Formats: sequence, structure tokens, C-alpha cells
Amino acid sequence: MKNIAVIGAGTMGNGIAHTFAQSGFKVQLVDINEDSLKKGISTISKNLDRQVAKEIITEAEKNETMLRIIPLSDLENAVAKADLVVEAASENLQIKTEIFKKLDQYCPSHTILATNTSSISITQLAAQTKRPEQVIGMHFMNPVPIMKLVEVICGYTTSESTTSTVMNLSEQLGKTPVEVNDYPGFVANRILMPMINEAIETLYHGVAGLQEIDTVMKLGMAHPMGPLQLADFIGLDVCLAIMDVLYEGFKNPKYAPCPLLVNMVRAGKMGVKSKEGFYDYNESKKAEIPAAQFA
Ligand code: NAD
Repeated sequence: MKNIAVIGAGTMGNGIAHTFAQSGFKVQLVDINEDSLKKGISTISKNLDRQVAKEIITEAEKNETMLRIIPLSDLENAVAKADLVVEAASENLQIKTEIFKKLDQYCPSHTILATNTSSISITQLAAQTKRPEQVIGMHFMNPVPIMKLVEVICGYTTSESTTSTVMNLSEQLGKTPVEVNDYPGFVANRILMPMINEAIETLYHGVAGLQEIDTVMKLGMAHPMGPLQLADFIGLDVCLAIMDVLYEGFKNPKYAPCPLLVNMVRAGKMGVKSKEGFYDYNESKKAEIPAAQFA
């Protein structure tokens, strides 16, 4: 494994590109949107600067890492020599289906096709290709350069050799891979998202305010951040998409997304990435949005 292509330069894609490049891999970073691509590269540069400031890496290592990342908007060109593709485009079945069909067409026959999806069926994406045994989930956590876990998701058709290659590769990145099976939400989001959704329900029903809910979970459960702030960091659109997959996948009303979450996404309040979600990120200091606004 030498050449990696990462599809999507958003929150996760730029972190995945950063992590591979820092471990010595050549990375082609692809995005359909030029602005996202520029923003992705500048985020990687800023995050590496932070590592330099903390003396985790040297300035020279930062520069070498940046040189290993090639930003591209042409998918066909970007994946032509890839040994592994990690797809991290928007959490949308149609978008991912089209990407997987194209990847199967453009990639060499040995290429492993991984997806960073939070919840979409690996088996369903694998079925879009003529190499279903080489399709796997490689679910990194946010922020990718810092978080240790990679949830490695085996689809119904994923081969043992694909799984062991991806498990070994994750270790080469300094991560701890955990192998799980392909059912809605896998393990991480089957447990995390209903908790976040319940926190939103608690706010929606006026049981407590925004900061009160987050404080209870931070101080009471020793969580590093509250569930509503975490939802902002993940992206409220991503949270909604995952709840929809759980709801559809299990046909169980306990997974129904909270109407407040649905409304906020409809209103374009996506969290940190749109500068407003449960908290306001427009100011240098995060201001609380009164809970009453949502009740
Ligand atoms: P994002 O919205 O920040 O970024 C998605 C990027 O994909 C955008 O830059 C968009 O322009 C690009 N894109 C859309 N269609 C494309 C296409 N056809 N080709 C190339 N690029 C395309 O989303 P994100 O939060 O980075 O999520 C990406 C994936 O990672 C999703 O599957 C999501 O479920 C998963 N994920 C997200 C988190 C999180 O905390 N945000 C955590 C784990 C996994």
C-alpha cells in the first residue's frame, strides 16, 4: 500500500488525508467542490501547524506531509494508481452509490474500496461494484488525526484478506482497529446516535436548557463534551442521516429522529460547519442559543 485516494475533503476527508500523509503515504485528495478542496487543504495545514506548535512534529515534517497530499477535482485521474480508496463524501446513499460505481470502473483491479460512512450499508455499496469482496467500511472518528479508533466494518461479501489488510493498515496509521459486522449504525453510531437524539428530545420537550443537558452528561458521565455540542461537531445533517438509516433499517420507532433535529437541518443549521447549530460559532466565543427558541 503506497497510494491512497480520499474522496471528499470535508470534516472527515481532510482528517483522513492528513493522517495517511503523516504516516508516509501519498494521498490524492478529491472533492467535487473546489471551495471544499481549498478549505480542506487549509484545514490540514492549520492542524499541522498546531502539531508543530505543540512540538509533536517539526516544521520540516509538516512540509513533507503537505507535499504528500495532492488536491484534485478529477476522480478518474485521482484513483488511477490508488491501492486503497477511502470514500468520505457526504452521507447520502445516492452520492455514495454513484461514487462506488465510478471507483469500480476507474480503479485498478487490486484496489480496495473503503468507505468512511457512519451508517450506510457496506454490503449495499459493495453490490454496486464487480469487486464486492474488496469493499469494506473504514470508519474513522472525528477529529481523525487525534482519535485512536477505526471501526472496520465487514460487509456480507467482504473477504478475509481485505479485512486483514485494512486492520494492518489502520495499525500502521497508529490507530486501534476494531472489527464489526455490517448492520445499521454498526456499533459506534447504533449506541451514540440514539443518545444524541434523546438529548435533543430532552431539549425539545423543555426538560432542561442546552448547557444544562451538556453539563449533566459532561460532569455526570465523564463525557469529554456534552451530546448537543458533540452533535454540532459531527454535523446535524450527518446526525439526521444516521438516525434515518437506523429508523429505516430496524423499522423501530425508538430510532425516529427528533422533529427539532429535522427542523434545524431544514433551516441549514448544521453545527460547526455552518457556524450555527445548538451553539453559535460566529462569535470568537461560543454564545448559547436559548433553549426556549427550540421548544
Ligand atoms: P462534510 O459535509 O464535511 O464533507 C463531505 C464532502 O464531500 C464535501 O466537501 C462535499 O463537497 C464532498 N462531496 C460530495 N459529493 C462528492 C462527490 N461526488 N465526489 C467528491 N466529493 C464529494 O461531511 P463529513 O462530516 O466529512 O462526512 C463525510 C463522511 O464521513 C460521511 O459518510 C459521514 O457519515 C462520515 N463520518 C462523519 C463523521 C463526523 O463526525 N462528521 C464521523 C465519522 C464518519
